[in-house]
Amino acid sequence: MSTRFERMLLVVVLPLVLGCPAASGTDDEADGGAVDVPDPEAAGEIGAEEGGGSVGDAADGEDGSCPATAPNILGPFYLEGAPERSDLVETGMSGTRLTIAGAVLDSACVPIPGALLDFWQADDAGVYDNTGWRLRGRLYANSEGRWSLQTIVPGRYDTGGTFRPEHIHVRVSAPGHLLLTTQLYFPDDPFAATDPFYVPSLTMTVVDLPDGSRRATFDFVLLRPTTP
Ligand code: FE
Repeated sequence: MSTRFERMLLVVVLPLVLGCPAASGTDDEADGGAVDVPDPEAAGEIGAEEGGGSVGDAADGEDGSCPATAPNILGPFYLEGAPERSDLVETGMSGTRLTIAGAVLDSACVPIPGALLDFWQADDAGVYDNTGWRLRGRLYANSEGRWSLQTIVPGRYDTGGTFRPEHIHVRVSAPGHLLLTTQLYFPDDPFAATDPFYVPSLTMTVVDLPDGSRRATFDFVLLRPTTP
């Protein structure tokens, strides 16, 4: 669990980087089981910052285009260089098995083959592995822009007074498109309402399967940099 110093660091630094007073006291990932807290400044990074564009300029979909996926905070537990794999489940790992599948599209709803998806998440006890690669992995969309991930449902963790809803972090990138940093959430999570980072449009479609596992779907939509 996080030390008091780590907690204080996040409380002080994160709001400053975010430039968002509402983030005060809601240190994302604060109890994520950190051993070492990676660069806290990275915690304030919001997705889609490559090339100077803005996700907030996303199309509204009324003309048949695909609305850009909303960004969400990076959090302090991202580690660069996760192994390339689409199955994060390891022998003996506890937790509800979860398959997530979807596509990566551009704002014209055209698939982006070979898009890179970089996932990381807490285990079923709400703990991140910050010294190894457990529950971290990178994978590529196929020639049709489709991807699939095998993992477990992550646990919630205390951020100092409230629990973050279940979520899975991801960064999605492709040449010629803005980097998207975001998180995926689960439907009807009772902790979503009190979470300062929850975005409804980032909620996956999830079904419970007879074998006790869950299957989720979510499509990412990337933007191109805006031309000056
Ligand atoms: Fe997290």
